[in-house]
Amino acid sequence: MAQLGGQPIFIMKEGTERTRGKDAMTNNIAAAKVIAEAVRTSLGPMGMDKMLVDQFGDVVITNDGATILKEIDVQHPAAKMMVEVAKTQDSEVGDGTTTSVILAGELLKRAEKLLQQKIHPTVITEGFRKAAEKAVEILEGMSIKSGIDDYDGLKNAAMTCMSSKIVSESKDMLADICINAIKSVAEKDENGKWIADIEKVQIQKKEGNSMDDTHLIKGIILDKEVVTPGMPKSITDAKILLLQSALEIEKTEFDSKLQITSPEQIQQFLDEEENMLRTMVQKIEKSGANVVICQKGIDDMAQHFLTKASIMAIRRVKKSDLEKLSKATGGMIFNSLDDVTEEKLGYAGLVEERKIMNDSWIFIEECKDPKSVVILIRGGTELIIDEVERAIHDALCVVRDVVEDQKIVGGGGAPELETAIQLRKFASTLGGREQLAVEVFADSLDIIPKTLAENAGLDQIDVLMKLRASHQKGNKFAGTNLATGEVVDNMMSVGVVEPTVVKIQAIKSSTEATSMILRIDDVIAGAKSAMPPGGPGMGGMGGMGGMGGMPPPGMGGYPGMM
Ligand code: ADP
Ligand code: MG
Repeated sequence: MAQLGGQPIFIMKEGTERTRGKDAMTNNIAAAKVIAEAVRTSLGPMGMDKMLVDQFGDVVITNDGATILKEIDVQHPAAKMMVEVAKTQDSEVGDGTTTSVILAGELLKRAEKLLQQKIHPTVITEGFRKAAEKAVEILEGMSIKSGIDDYDGLKNAAMTCMSSKIVSESKDMLADICINAIKSVAEKDENGKWIADIEKVQIQKKEGNSMDDTHLIKGIILDKEVVTPGMPKSITDAKILLLQSALEIEKTEFDSKLQITSPEQIQQFLDEEENMLRTMVQKIEKSGANVVICQKGIDDMAQHFLTKASIMAIRRVKKSDLEKLSKATGGMIFNSLDDVTEEKLGYAGLVEERKIMNDSWIFIEECKDPKSVVILIRGGTELIIDEVERAIHDALCVVRDVVEDQKIVGGGGAPELETAIQLRKFASTLGGREQLAVEVFADSLDIIPKTLAENAGLDQIDVLMKLRASHQKGNKFAGTNLATGEVVDNMMSVGVVEPTVVKIQAIKSSTEATSMILRIDDVIAGAKSAMPPGGPGMGGMGGMGGMGGMPPPGMGGYPGMM
């Protein structure tokens, strides 16, 4: 609050909390570190899983950084920024969420030491920015070329990403599914660059059987049944008519009265309707279609004629599904039966109604060049299915990353360690306080190989020394193979591979969040609306004006700080 001639002026609403300067920064860093600490033990293939229980008692078991942070209800604003790091990482590249959060935590921890040495936050953030830029360059430089035709590269990247998940025993088969799926939907853009949109890979989940029954369907699944039991339930070499209009007699818009004077007239009327429907079905038959998928309804009489013609029909399919079907089968969506021609029908090798648990689904499979595919996930329990879904999501993203960016690096802490070594060399060219910040950035990167070793029960210092020795000899991908616990000279030779963009994004998102948090020196929190209205009787609080609610320095309950 300001003073004017001895009179206090109230600038902020009563109940507003304000923390400033060093306290604000200490609190923010402490909160961010708590978040990093929360996910630390889950990094890598030997990382532990977390069981999260929400307020309704729903349970999630996961090892996925983004999911862990999404499920826990974080309150502190700086902690929320750390959650954002994971979200950004997830939406940009789909993997490396734990890595990015741990990195941000370490950067902040080490930045705090620099702050204690009276180095100004902007000097630190500027140094970090420079270091991050250089790190990206270093990572690009050490990468190996890969891409859509490099099956081994894609497979190893997908398997590495799944090795840290509960599903790791099935990673071989799941990796193949993901590669197949991405290859099916990948397309070259006008510049000849491969683009793979993972939105075109649908995920369907159904409890039952086991994880190993998860499979790829080159086409589409509809949560529908064949309209009447008499129709064929399975058609090979399907010629599919996609219809937007109804197979019904159109009702008039207005109520109209029809004067019927004799029983013959009723019969005539019904016969007329029947004829119209018969003609409709005849048109379908003539086009050569043996499957009709209709967005609207199908009249009982039409169903009868279709059944007689051995045509399979499905009705009331969503418009969006019809569009997907059009993409997958190459068929045109018709509005009127008069326009239907054989060439414009869709094609699928198999259309079949199958019972999965208690539901009937229609599978439209073996499409020639499906630009939309489905992964049907099976598993014993919902918990498993959900974790399989997360693993598949990550693997799909990783395969897409490699297909689009065409660069990979060895994993197991190798890229971080190599980047750190090269960054230290870069730092020595800078001098001054900036050099210090870049060195601190390099030291922070070591947290990844260290944590991987720690989570596998290995001796951190010992591992780090061996790794550095190997890197000094020029082995840029020397890392710890956690399958055996040994330091190897080239992680690629043991199939531990990651997309370069995942590593780069982890550096970018963690540096951004760190800088943002380091720049804050004033936290002003508005009064909670649930607070009792401040009246004249509020005692000591009222007299303090807006800042009355500020707790003493060191608030927040994080002991041992500074
Ligand atoms: P994130 O959420 O950051 O992807 P993960 O728990 O998936 O975290 O762990 C990823 C890390 O584990 C990467 O650094 C990756 O290289 C490493 N990793 C995966 N498999 C192995 C392995 N077999 N040996 C050593 N490191 C591995
Ligand atoms: Mg991962």
